[in-house]
Order: sequence, then C-alpha cells, then structure tokens
Amino acid sequence: MVNKKYWNYRVSLFDIVGNNPLNEADKKNEIGLNMENIVVGWEEWVTLPELGLPALKAKTDTGARTSALHAFSIQPFGSEKKPFVRFGIHPVPDNPDIEVFCSARVVDRREVTSSNGQKELRYVIKTPIIIGKRKWDIEITLTNRGNMAYRMLLGRTALEEIAVQPTQSFIQGQLSYRLYDKIARQKPIKRPLRIAVLTREPNNFSTRRLVEEAEKRNHVIELIDTKRCYLNIQSHNPEVHYDGKPLPVFDVVIPRIGASLTFYGMAVVRQFEAMGTFCLNSAASIGASRDKLAAHQILARHRIPMPTTAFANSPKDTNSLLSLVGGAPTVLKLLQSTQGRGVVLAETKKAGEAVISAFQGLDAHFIAQEFVKEAAGSDVRCFVVGKKVVGAMMRTADAEDFRSNLHAGGKAKRVALSKEEKAIAIRSANVLGLTVAGVDLIRTETGSKVLEVNSSPGLEGLEKTSRKNVAEKIIEYIENNVSSTVRQSRKTR
Ligand code: ADP
Repeated sequence: MVNKKYWNYRVSLFDIVGNNPLNEADKKNEIGLNMENIVVGWEEWVTLPELGLPALKAKTDTGARTSALHAFSIQPFGSEKKPFVRFGIHPVPDNPDIEVFCSARVVDRREVTSSNGQKELRYVIKTPIIIGKRKWDIEITLTNRGNMAYRMLLGRTALEEIAVQPTQSFIQGQLSYRLYDKIARQKPIKRPLRIAVLTREPNNFSTRRLVEEAEKRNHVIELIDTKRCYLNIQSHNPEVHYDGKPLPVFDVVIPRIGASLTFYGMAVVRQFEAMGTFCLNSAASIGASRDKLAAHQILARHRIPMPTTAFANSPKDTNSLLSLVGGAPTVLKLLQSTQGRGVVLAETKKAGEAVISAFQGLDAHFIAQEFVKEAAGSDVRCFVVGKKVVGAMMRTADAEDFRSNLHAGGKAKRVALSKEEKAIAIRSANVLGLTVAGVDLIRTETGSKVLEVNSSPGLEGLEKTSRKNVAEKIIEYIENNVSSTVRQSRKTR
C-alpha cells in the first residue's frame, strides 16, 4: 500500500531544503531522517544524495550480496592512495538523454558473480542511501551490463536490519523523475572533479597554481600536452587519443593554448566539447580572441571602447589608412603579434609608410591604431573569471619603450579599477564568449579602452602583484558551473 501521507512528506522535504536538496544531507538529519525501522517492498524509490541522484527505482535482490548500480563510462582516477571512480547513470530508464555523472571514493575492488553466472571485477563505493525516512551508508558495486530495467539492485548487506515484504512495492512512497528537471537548475553537487589542463608547459607558474588549488579542494587534475592529443572524429563516439589510448572522459578541460598552437589547440578543445566535457573557454571563443582583427570587429560591434583602429590591404591606401587613425605617431601591429613582439610605434608619417611597406612586402597582415600618448607606456591587465574581475595590475614599460608587456621588460604594480573599467573588461570577455580572459585596457584622455583580450592569461605577474588567489577563483568557478546532469541536446553547445 502506498503511504500517501509519506509521499507528501517526501515532496515537501525537497522543497524545504530548497536550493540543493542533494547537498543538504545534514539538514535532512535535522528534520528527522535517521535509523528508523522501515519495511521495503520488492521495488522502492531511493535517493543517493551524495551521488546527485534524487530518484532511482531500485529492485530488492536478496539473492545478491552487495547492491549494484548500472552505470556507464566507469573510469577510475586519482592516485593509488586516494582512488576515485567517475561514472555516468541514465537514471530514467526510457530517457537516455538524461545523464548524470557521479564520482566517488573507491573503497574496494571485488569479483562479483552476476545473476547470469558471469564473473566481473567491479569497483565498490560507499555512499548514503535514503529510503523513506531512513538514511544509512551502503556499499555499491558499479557494473555496466547494458540496459537493465532497474538502475539499482538492493542487495542483502544493504538490507541487514530492514524487513523486506516481497509481495508489495513502493511501501516507502513515490518519488518522481521530475526531480531531475529540478537538479539541472540547482547548484551542482560538490564532488571530486576530474580536471584536465591542456598545456605545453606543465611546469610553468600558471599550471602549477591551478594544480595546487584544484588538489587543495580535493579534485584530481591531470596535465595533458595539447600537441600530443590526436582526434578520433566520429559522430557516435568522438574521442581524444593520447599515447596510443583514448583519453578518459574528464568533467572539465582548462585550455591553456599558446598563440603558436591556436589552430591545433582549437581542434582539440572542439573535440572535448563534442564529448560533452565542460571546457572553461570554448574553441570558438579562443578563436575569436586570437584573431585580433575579428576580435576588434566584434568588440566594436558591441560598442566597447577601443583606440581608433584601421585595417587595409593595398599599398595604395597607406596614406588614407594613416590619416584614418589620426596621422603620426601611429602604432602598427602585426596581427600575429604576441607579448608585444610585432607592435611598432611609427613616430613620423615617413616611418609609418616604411613599416607598412615592409609588412606588405612580407605579406603580413597588420592593423594601424592611434597612439595613446597619455598612457605613458602603461596598460591595465584585468583578469576576468565568469562575470567578475578577480584581479588587476598596471604594467609600465621600460623607460626606452612604449610597450608595457612584462615579457618586454615592463614592470607590474597594483591598481584599483573604476566601475566602468570593470564593466568594460567583463563585457569584452563576454562578447567574445570567454569565461576566463585577460583584458588589457589602456587609459586615455577619453576613458579606458580595450587593447586586446587574451584567452590564456598568465597568473604569475597578476597573482604576485595583486596578491589575489586567481587560481582558486578559477577552480571555484568550475565547481559552481559544472553540472552533473547532461542532456543530449545541450551536449554539443
Ligand atoms: P600584444 O598582443 O603583442 O601584447 P598589444 O596590442 O597588447 O599587443 O600591444 C603591446 C603593448 O603596446 C601594450 O601592452 C601597450 O603597452 C602598448 N600599446 C599597444 N597599443 C597601443 C596604443 N594604441 N597606444 C599606446 N600604446 C599601445
């Protein structure tokens, strides 16, 4: 018999705990979930709160010793001392579009003989279960045995102190799969994430800081050499391979793609996107920011202030180009320039013509820009994460130079940003689609303007100067934005 009163209780329970029912196991204890004696039928609705599974239909199977979950993509990660396993579940049997990814500490590996007599070595995890008013820890093995009608089997050890009434079902009340619609809108479950950093520089400051902060917060972070990834491009099962094997499925990829590897790096990031992995900056946003000319055009279209900038191709237009940006002195920038290399100040019209002629002779594309003299060799780097500026510094050029890049000998110091500057930085990252960005502003007589937006900004100068923990902010952002629920239609965003 279904206990109606209790069903109401279960529904209101999820309402009471509000934002994130699944992370609020403690609150549930406060409101009376504990070691109550219960009787279960041959099938029951269960909640696995720490795995982010609010509702699963389980079948009691007293013929089996340990409980089992039918999962897919079961992949171990972490270290020998601290092993984890990541796996996916389709909690709703007839809706494979809803996938929930879970991770848990591995407590054992065990050989299990399944009902059809097959022996299988399975990962064992330990996690709380809630049935009706009772909550207790159980061991669960993970198995991938095709499409079973029940995603979970409740074995003898989980039911040691619980009476089973095999002729009845759902004695402990009904839950609903509609709860999965709700969790997609709620804050993600705090769980150990499997993070990959795509980088060619495993030992540089930025990489080390990301590893340090991720590990401090109990995540497992792996460094992947972007150039060594190769791609298996197929519609049904896209994969990234590395050293002869497919890479596991990561929860998150942090791309740190250097300018020289933009084309290949974007392809790798795109592939991870196709696999449904959350990429901190998308391939498209990296591409948009790397193409300086396209980035300027996008920023301009969104009315983001920039120094007057012009682009031309034919030598016949050199004069007009220079006058468009206000005549000499003029800044000329090669489109491929990074770290200030390929950025030239032409003090006179003659010098401008000579540089342009040299660039054109080499078939190199460039932009011309008004020279902001009043900046006196300084610019301001704003580090954006999500919708916030999490740190800033002012860089000032060496006395002999007008370029403030630290690589070109510039010096960094702390700086306070105005409200407008913060808004410009956030909007610039936003319109290019970047979650993490270094936005360079130049302070002019008519307000701060954007010089460029960098999709893999370094942490070293910024963290040391601003004394802000930028790496931690990045990991926090990831924690708050990696959902454990995926719908097929959203996968290929
Ligand atoms: P890069 O991508 O190579 O760093 P930038 O456009 O950022 O190229 O230019 C490098 C540096 O040159 C900037 O950090 C700034 O100090 C200086 N600079 C660039 N454009 C101007 C400009 N229009 N007026 C004055 N200084 C500039």
